Amino acid sequence: MRGIALLGSTGSIGTTALRVLDRQRDRFRVAALTAFANGRLLEEQVSRFDPSFVGLVQNGGVGHARWRTGVRCLVEAATRDDVDIVLNAVVGAAGLDATLAALEAGKRVALANKETLVMAGDLAYAAAKRGGGEIVPVDSEHSAILQCIVGRRRDQVRRVILTASGGPFRDWPADRLARATVADALHHPTWQMGRKITVDSATLANKALEVIEAHYLFDLPYDRIDVVVHPQSVIHSFVEFVDGSVLAQMSAPTMELPVLYALTHPERVSDDGVRPFDPVACSPLTFEPVRYEQFPALRLGTQAGRSGGAAPAVFNAANEQAVALFLEGRITFNDIASAIDSALDALGDTASGSREALLAVDAEARRHVRRLFSC
Ligand code: NAD
Ligand code: MG
Repeated sequence: MRGIALLGSTGSIGTTALRVLDRQRDRFRVAALTAFANGRLLEEQVSRFDPSFVGLVQNGGVGHARWRTGVRCLVEAATRDDVDIVLNAVVGAAGLDATLAALEAGKRVALANKETLVMAGDLAYAAAKRGGGEIVPVDSEHSAILQCIVGRRRDQVRRVILTASGGPFRDWPADRLARATVADALHHPTWQMGRKITVDSATLANKALEVIEAHYLFDLPYDRIDVVVHPQSVIHSFVEFVDGSVLAQMSAPTMELPVLYALTHPERVSDDGVRPFDPVACSPLTFEPVRYEQFPALRLGTQAGRSGGAAPAVFNAANEQAVALFLEGRITFNDIASAIDSALDALGDTASGSREALLAVDAEARRHVRRLFSC
């Protein structure tokens, strides 16, 4: 029995993970659950899974006396002795300390919270090295790559190609994009996800985060990470090997598969969460080039990754802040990429060697974006 701490249990990945864990009760025990503010759903989850530890960051009066509150509950959950695997399904930079602490404590981190790696990839790998922890991706593209390369030598990989659905605006002309509403952006064609990542999928900032994530996870230089648009989201990514052979991993679009694989890697276990693969029902599978001019966030993020230092953290924080303002109806869709661009110009070269420096630049980038729009 392996103990699981599920951080962000009330979110899209969190609830998906609990469906998987419900089917796999003979392998995994839910030892800890944490959520931000949805005490009612958390209460339901607690009664179904009976975890030893429950954390609710903002306790709006629903919590029980034995529940922990405040931001530190994430780190507490992630470092418990009865926890072997920390499934970090928190959204945004708020997940950073739990990832670092879990790696330092020698845990496997099944990482959905990609923002963590983007803002602090070097720190995360340093913590893993010190503490003996490991990062296994939950993101479907990175899970696909891992499944294709597992058991092979890394020097046999020539290139990875991340697939992108293209989001709801894949074929929108530029003038229509300028008028895109929040409702338009939240209408994703193939995936049901939290609001922040859904907007990131519309701007392609999500793919930029994933390029940086792939750089850290697979230790690949940026010129060996490509992106192609694949609207059906059936092929989750490609790996090209040095002899020219290409492997891909596919399934109907569901996060249940990559969540389970992140828990069992390098093993596979029997599970019936994914509907049987039917190539005819999936066809046609199509591919298109990325429209970089219409979706500048992808190039900005990749460039930030190449620059290194604090630039990825600035990219991430500016994006998080701009997406929040967009969701509040205070800025336009295209303002998101402009905000990122402006923040990178102003702050991309800031020092970044420590957790404190990264948190400071994260806060400064958010302030920069709010000032830019007088918010
Ligand atoms: P979500 O908004 O649905 O859920 C976020 C969860 O984090 C909730 O349980 C919430 O309570 C918790 N949370 C939010 N802010 C917090 C804070 N400040 N402190 C502590 N907890 C907090 O988001 P999601 O779609 O489940 O995405 C979670 C992460 O997984 C993101 O990093 C996202 O990029 C990544 N991801 C999601 C999907 C998907 O299909 N949803 C796919 C790949 C990767
Ligand atoms: Mg993804």
